[in-house]
Amino acid sequence: MHRIAFLGPPGAGKGTQATVLAAELAIPHLSTGDLLRAEAAARTPLGLEADGYMRSGRLVPDAVVLRVLEERIGRPDARNGFLLDGFPRTVAQATTLESVAPLDRVVFFDLPRDVLVDRLSSRRVCPTCRTVYNLLSHPPRVAGRCDRDGAELVQRPDDRPEAIATRLAVYAETTAPIVDFYRARGRLRTIDATGTPDEVGRQVRAATR
Ligand SMILES: [Zn+2]
Repeated sequence: MHRIAFLGPPGAGKGTQATVLAAELAIPHLSTGDLLRAEAAARTPLGLEADGYMRSGRLVPDAVVLRVLEERIGRPDARNGFLLDGFPRTVAQATTLESVAPLDRVVFFDLPRDVLVDRLSSRRVCPTCRTVYNLLSHPPRVAGRCDRDGAELVQRPDDRPEAIATRLAVYAETTAPIVDFYRARGRLRTIDATGTPDEVGRQVRAATR
């Protein structure tokens, strides 16, 4: 059984690693945002309830998120486990998850704040086709121009340094207690997420073995 969650700040590379590891272990890669949207699109009673919160810009209550998650991990493709990305976000969610499907491993993607700020502030997006670039890890072929349509790339307001500082402060405040929660239960593995995707991937494999 592989019940795994990835924890870490935005820009730590969790999404890339989650896709690779989920394929290797043949377990579904679950993001609660995607699950809630799929449930809403299927117009199930739970989905419609979640949709009401999302449409009005409110947070979907933990009880609803956990019911959607519980239903999803009960499906046959999750019989060997699952990989959660972006959940749990609070100690309350972590506590409830313990009674539904206790995680075996929680991998914390650690990296220094200045590296994170560099990565996040290097993101650029094409206003025409929405392709996302990163000047450090995935630059466009021609500086400042989209590879697909040549449009001038822009920086999103929330990728500007002031906004990044706020995002990281919010992240640190909400995540530290969750890290402590799993560390206290002996299930946390911290990895150094500053390396290349291959280097980080090796650590992820060692941490989830
Ligand atoms: Zn484009």
